[in-house]
Amino acid sequence: MKTARRMSIQGLLIALTLCFTGACARPVPTETALPTAVTTTREMVVTAHPLATQAGARILEMGGTAVDAMIAAQAVLGLVEPQSSGLGGGAFVVYHQTETGRTITVDGREKAPQAAREDRFLIQGRPMEFHHAWQSGLSVGVPGVPRLLEHLHQRYGRLPWSELFVPARTLAREGFPLTARTSALASDLLARNSSCAEDERLFFRDPAAFAYLVETETCTAKPAGTWMRNPAYAETLERLAAEGADAFYLGPLAEAIVAAVQGDRRIPGDLTAADLENYQVVERPPVCVAFRGHQVCGMGPPSSGALAVGQILRFMELRSDLLGTSPLDVDSVHLFTQAMRLAFADRNLYVADSDFVKVPVAGLLDETYLAARAALITPWDMGSAAPGMPPGAEETHAAENVAPSQGTSQISVLDRYGNALSLTSSIESAFGNGVMVQGFFLNNQLTDFSFAPRDAAGRPLANRVQPGKRPRSSMAPTIVLAPDDRVALVTGSPGGARIIGYTAQSLLNILAFGLDPQQTIQVPHIINLNGQTELEAPLPGVTLDYDVQALATALMARGHSDPAAALQERLVDIVAHTSGLAIIQVVRSATGQAVLIGGADQRRDGAVGGR
Ligand code: GLU
Repeated sequence: MKTARRMSIQGLLIALTLCFTGACARPVPTETALPTAVTTTREMVVTAHPLATQAGARILEMGGTAVDAMIAAQAVLGLVEPQSSGLGGGAFVVYHQTETGRTITVDGREKAPQAAREDRFLIQGRPMEFHHAWQSGLSVGVPGVPRLLEHLHQRYGRLPWSELFVPARTLAREGFPLTARTSALASDLLARNSSCAEDERLFFRDPAAFAYLVETETCTAKPAGTWMRNPAYAETLERLAAEGADAFYLGPLAEAIVAAVQGDRRIPGDLTAADLENYQVVERPPVCVAFRGHQVCGMGPPSSGALAVGQILRFMELRSDLLGTSPLDVDSVHLFTQAMRLAFADRNLYVADSDFVKVPVAGLLDETYLAARAALITPWDMGSAAPGMPPGAEETHAAENVAPSQGTSQISVLDRYGNALSLTSSIESAFGNGVMVQGFFLNNQLTDFSFAPRDAAGRPLANRVQPGKRPRSSMAPTIVLAPDDRVALVTGSPGGARIIGYTAQSLLNILAFGLDPQQTIQVPHIINLNGQTELEAPLPGVTLDYDVQALATALMARGHSDPAAALQERLVDIVAHTSGLAIIQVVRSATGQAVLIGGADQRRDGAVGGR
């Protein structure tokens, strides 16, 4: 890939400020341009990149459904945000169809190859270091995204399938400017190499990925604004557009994927043509909880997202006696951290792929159980929470901790017909496993399995590797239904295990504190993965009544341990652990007229589109 033309990202953003094909969208906000919520009356799409938003908005304008718009936006994200999601990864979708009133979830999560065994990530009986597993063929699960897109389109699409790939194909051929974020992530990975020599590189060991994102002479990441073209991706999309998902799972493309995994330069993987051919997506019942008169519905196992978000919201409601009067006062923050602790304790013990282990889904949301758990919350930090014993649970598994990661994207859509869609899509870590096949990156999603299959006492972990199993996820695509069963909210975020906190906080801020989607995104994140409490510094340019030092001190006075760790100004380190919330709220007037309010995350390159 040659650098043919460069333009500044600032220039790009100004250019993209223009309304897309009549659709009102806005670019990445900066310090000086403080974002405010975007409102429309007909349709809306929110993604992590202005060009993906533009593609989705165009499809909506052409009369496409939320599914159609999502497919177009996902195809563009795989190009312009290659570090986060794409054809080589997996995803979950929550979809609400207005006509039938049904809410469904579709599981397009990657699967372990049939040859995978529980000792996959062990070396001499010990878990291998994360980066060794990550940058290898072992981490690649059977991708689910192409089948997922096709499955949804066959049932809920309206425009011709091939039409949906036109925006991405055009951009891949004509080019687009590299974002500062992609460049910085590539730079970070390069800096972790001890040598840049081709056979000594750990990161960017794949020559195709290296040539695409790195200036070869200097071994530095291509700078922001570099004009990028990806003809191989354009060809892949052409095949997909012409032949459907079979073009990916059978034939030359499938062979290229198998060859890349089995021929990995560091550690060959064992994914086969049969694994690809046999991949299927699964429709699963949504996991829904009641919160403030609404139904909050999301993705059940193999994701822990909806169960953990659901528990957190129930705890917040059951202990509303301890809730403060604003999202960031010490009472509200403390209560939220305690709710997160309890939810993560259960998640880490019980949740994995329910096709392989018994997950007590109903028990974890049983009101009597939740009330007993909520009663453990006091104004004093409870410290590390122990898991509970929900009805239907079998205590045969050992608990494990969470490993945060990055490399995921959120798309939220509401179409003119009233259908809503929330997709969280992932290749797991930045640039997946680092290998490009025909213009897209392969995932490293299998590193979401527990590396150690058993604890010291020999008890199996629920999330251990098994052939054909899906690794546990934290992704939490969410649709909220109002008391009249109409769509009230669409939300979700990337961010590894922190997704659960980001998503729950967004729901709380909107449904309990009445903030709009953009305001809620500006609220600094509060996280506790049943360990230290993390407070985020205020976003640049956002004036909020929020004194992070004072809040940390007040939390410490309530027993939150590890004073040094209580304050993590994670936005300073903007590459790591950044949320990417994409939120649409539907507000109806007394006459039934709907107004859509959108919010996009400035921690990434989020943009709202629609009209
Ligand atoms: N692989 C993670 C999961 O499925 C998501 C990673 C991320 O958000 O960056 O939970």
